[in-house]
Amino acid sequence: TNLDTLARHLDRYRGAGIGNLIGGETRPAGQGASFETRSPVDDSLICTVARSDAQDVDDAARAAQDAFAGWRDIAATERRAILHRIADGIEARAEEIALCECWDTGQALRFMSKAALRGAENFRFFADRAPAARDGQALPSPTLMNVTTRVPIGPVGVITPWNTPFMLSTWKIAPALAAGCTVVHKPAEFSPLTARILAEIAHEAGLPPGVWNLVNGFGEDAGRALTEHPAIRAIAFVGESKTGSMIMKQGADTLKRVHFELGGKNPVIVFDDADLERALDAAIFMIYSLNGERCTSSSRLLVQESIAEDFEARLTERVNNIRVGHPLDPDTEVGPLIHKVHFDKVTSYFDAARADGATIAAGGDRVGEQGWFVRPTLFTGARNNMRVAQEEIFGPVLTAIRFQDEDEALHIANDTEYGLTAYVWTNDLTRALRFTNRLEAGMIWVNSENVRHLPTPFGGVKASGIGRDGGDWSFEFHMEQKHIGLAK
Ligand code: NAD
Repeated sequence: TNLDTLARHLDRYRGAGIGNLIGGETRPAGQGASFETRSPVDDSLICTVARSDAQDVDDAARAAQDAFAGWRDIAATERRAILHRIADGIEARAEEIALCECWDTGQALRFMSKAALRGAENFRFFADRAPAARDGQALPSPTLMNVTTRVPIGPVGVITPWNTPFMLSTWKIAPALAAGCTVVHKPAEFSPLTARILAEIAHEAGLPPGVWNLVNGFGEDAGRALTEHPAIRAIAFVGESKTGSMIMKQGADTLKRVHFELGGKNPVIVFDDADLERALDAAIFMIYSLNGERCTSSSRLLVQESIAEDFEARLTERVNNIRVGHPLDPDTEVGPLIHKVHFDKVTSYFDAARADGATIAAGGDRVGEQGWFVRPTLFTGARNNMRVAQEEIFGPVLTAIRFQDEDEALHIANDTEYGLTAYVWTNDLTRALRFTNRLEAGMIWVNSENVRHLPTPFGGVKASGIGRDGGDWSFEFHMEQKHIGLAK
């Protein structure tokens, strides 16, 4: 029945395909070019999608520029009201969003059913902060009455990945709009459905034309053109670290401000004094939910030698019981990976693990002959210099590494190019403080899985990102400080 409901929703896009939204109008790509997206379950056609080129991006950037002054100057309370109406629209289409998201990405419905509500919450959170976003301060000197204020930076480009596309799009676009920026959004080519639904909702909520533009297409042409466009003042990007580095180069000529949320190889560190039952639950949840395709996943388990054998045995048993299946089946815990390229990447690590001498304690193969299903996988006996311990696999694959003591745990945890999140399990408060103080990560949770709280700063260090989102940090990125000195 979920499939029947999905089919009804998809009918809307099957005929005309997924168009761009530029200046409030739905359009195909200028040259009429398109590409197809395919279901990760059975490779069947989902829909055709506009394949935009630099001209389409230019049209969208100009529309965003034309709309900028109007949106910047509209009363903040009106901006707040429109953003709340977008949240209402998201909630009204929550089921459709969840089903389309799962069909596009292969993510299991049980983890996606709340995606729309989280997206709506992102809009409400930043909507309520819009009226105070420009507040400044007075800094009088002997001769001047100095005042500061904040103004929106201008049209911004938002480029998002395919792993949790709906939630991430709302997370990036809501603060931009609340700050008074206009937006050109280039969603991931592999998962365009919910970005289209979202842009429609915004349009129907009364957002003025041109304030939010959608251009579909590939990174190397549409994405690239957006990062190079002179009217676009800043790029908010979520994706791979190497793409972030390309975007930085592409944006250099036009001096783009960039905000990057990039990859991770996040450790979960379990000390022998921890509540091991809870640590086990959290370690499993943080790598085997959302297909392991989350930037904050704990893909390296660092477990203390004294408890390792028992912990790994219990882990193996649990991993073997994870239900792999159709993404729209509410019982499914791990769905198919999004497409063949990603499937090939993830499964290539099974050989890499063997070649480097790790043990495949669970999984290590595909499931079925059709679709991109892989068995949840656990590597044990790994060392931190192995590829499976250093490279972001971005699938339901966990690499377990043993350590003797705190110093060794710290060394292994930090011995990676990434630094997004870390998870520490210990009941020794002093150790927790000492250890987290020396961990190289933007976000750390102690005795907890990742629990997002919107006012807190979200982002990574090293190759995991530049800048922070959340609370006022999102406005800092989307706005410029302005100083005015009045002679006394
Ligand atoms: P990706 O970097 O391949 O693609 C992301 C987006 O960038 C897509 O829209 C793509 O079309 C576009 N793109 C590609 N090349 C481009 C270019 N040269 N110029 C401009 N745009 C370009 O990433 P992905 O495979 O879609 O997503 C998975 C990655 O995203 C993982 O590394 C994951 O860790 C990361 N991620 C990070 C966070 C975070 O908050 N840190 C959140 C989610 C995902």
